[in-house]
Amino acid sequence: MAPSSDPDGPELPTDAAEPSFADTPRKPAPGLHLVATPIGNARDITLRALETLRGVDAIACEDTRTTGRLMARYGIATPLLPYHEHNAAKMRPQLLARMADGQAVALVSDAGTPLISDPGYKLVREAVAAGLAVTHLPGANAAVTALVLSGLPSDRFLYAGFLPSKAAARRTALADLKAVPATLVFYESPQRLPDMLADAAETLGGREAAVARELTKLFEEVRRGPLPVLAAHYAQSGPPKGEVVVVIGPPGDTAAEEPADLDALLRDALAGMSVRDAAATVATATGRPRKEVYARALDIAKGSG
Ligand code: SAM
Repeated sequence: MAPSSDPDGPELPTDAAEPSFADTPRKPAPGLHLVATPIGNARDITLRALETLRGVDAIACEDTRTTGRLMARYGIATPLLPYHEHNAAKMRPQLLARMADGQAVALVSDAGTPLISDPGYKLVREAVAAGLAVTHLPGANAAVTALVLSGLPSDRFLYAGFLPSKAAARRTALADLKAVPATLVFYESPQRLPDMLADAAETLGGREAAVARELTKLFEEVRRGPLPVLAAHYAQSGPPKGEVVVVIGPPGDTAAEEPADLDALLRDALAGMSVRDAAATVATATGRPRKEVYARALDIAKGSG
């Protein structure tokens, strides 16, 4: 049969037999296999990842209990070796020696894609330097999931990892990113989220942003809005539960101009602030005249909006 001509689809022959992963496990080649694991929903793991994790000689992982639970779920009994920031320097030569000896070793992190704010970079660097084969089995990643859900420009983005936890260093890091003409993606702890958003609003102004929480999990939520409104929301509500990613639009992509959006912003702000503060916050965020925004906030607060 001719390959599919669907421009959105892969060019796969439609009558090809499905490969059977259960019956014919292929032995992974010697070398390093970087395997992505789920970020919340245990079913977000690829067939190839399972096949590889079942077939390698050992799995290096951050926490043997966390990875052990995932492996138990899929009936995988491959030996687990701890590889984390405290023992990496000692473990790395051992892992490299195994691979040089012809073993296939997988590296996984507690969740998502290894090396992305997780251990593995030096292992990859040294494996490459030693001429060992290195491959990646792609899968879940919180930064990309948050970016694509944010509704913010996705054509160019900068993954900025975790900001410093100390306020002064965090503000400096944000100021350094201010001119970057791209959407910014940050990992953040829920406890630090309110302070981080306050600093981001102060440093970056009224840019559109999104807080993506508990991705792929039961209580997945994406809260979108201008930075000052998001900052006001979390200042009021306090730290959220679960894990979060913060996505901030590029310079020039400031708040929407539509009246309907103004009302939505005001309602959101009024949920946690006085009319005066809500109007001031939204006026700053949208760049609209304070008087006009205040009048609209009053209408909404009185129930006549
Ligand atoms: N390697 C992982 C990846 O590929 O996404 C990231 C590991 S990093 C140590 C953990 C951070 O990722 C969390 O603090 C949070 O910012 C983000 N994260 C991980 N899982 C998440 C989820 N399900 N929802 C939202 N954020 C998540």
